[in-house]
Amino acid sequence: MLPKYSFIVPIYNEEENIEEMYRRISQVMDRMDGEVELCLVNDGSRDRSLQMMRDLHQKDPRVVYLSLARNFGHQIAVTAGLNYVRGQVVVILDADLQDPPELIPDMVEKWRQGYQIVYAQRIQRRKEGWFKRFTAYAFYRILKQLADVDIPTDTGDFCLLDRKVVDLLNSMPERNRYIRGLRAWVGFNQIAIKFERDPRFAGDVKYTFRKSLALAINGLVSFSKVPLRLSTYMGFFAALISLFMSVMVLYWRLIQPHSPLTGMAIILMAIFFLGAVQLVSIGILGEYIGRIYEEVKERPLYTLAEIAGFHKDK
Ligand code: UDP
Ligand code: MG
Repeated sequence: MLPKYSFIVPIYNEEENIEEMYRRISQVMDRMDGEVELCLVNDGSRDRSLQMMRDLHQKDPRVVYLSLARNFGHQIAVTAGLNYVRGQVVVILDADLQDPPELIPDMVEKWRQGYQIVYAQRIQRRKEGWFKRFTAYAFYRILKQLADVDIPTDTGDFCLLDRKVVDLLNSMPERNRYIRGLRAWVGFNQIAIKFERDPRFAGDVKYTFRKSLALAINGLVSFSKVPLRLSTYMGFFAALISLFMSVMVLYWRLIQPHSPLTGMAIILMAIFFLGAVQLVSIGILGEYIGRIYEEVKERPLYTLAEIAGFHKDK
């Protein structure tokens, strides 16, 4: 029989968390009103995570898993999970218990009321560094201003999705997957559930600053064309300044008898200024062109090394 509920948990070097995560999620699974599958997605872990997933699958057939052939990143791991799970209702949550599984029944209640997407919105992050809190806070607000769709602030990937939404996400061909954006893009009835984000149960953050920055840029570039326009604005700004400088130069040369102009300094300044504007513009262009390049290559999103527990084992 196909499960009614699927829980997707992406895992990258989470050996310290898997046991406790399974304990807490299985308590929730026992209380659900239908069959549940717990889909663990190994994102190229280098610790004992995969072995622990195999053991869990042996012990509890409700646990199914996918193992990607290398580390493809969190968004792709979740995408792989979405491709394979079979439930009518799908919930995505982190392995480090920052997304409390006890919230799932409340999310399902909203689903029963007719919402196809229920996303968890943080009202507070407990014990995360000020730098992460500040950058995340700023990023979600900038994104909200710039994005073409209304992407709710302070929401991660912890959410419930109806099968209809999962099928839609699966049918989207794009390689740059900013799931929270795609999720907002599809529409339907969406609702937030507020929660306090717990600290990590154990282990270090797997989202390094570099990965977070890449995710942020991806979100911006995938859902907004404003950065492209920014180069135009900077161009106009540079033009204005150069106009102003020409007037100054004319004034000094023609009207002031003792010209303070030495030339060099102003020329250097202008060169640096224009250089900066041009480099930034090229960089912004590059972000978009790089993405076009990614898309046209049409490589598969991930490679699978191992899969267990799905009937339609591919
Ligand atoms: N993760 C992953 N691949 C990665 C990085 C992270 O699958 O390359 C998983 C990780 O195991 C965890 C979730 O994504 O289940 C969130 O990671 P983390 O807790 O480090 O991020 P944060 O909670 O700080 O956003
Ligand atoms: Mg975390």
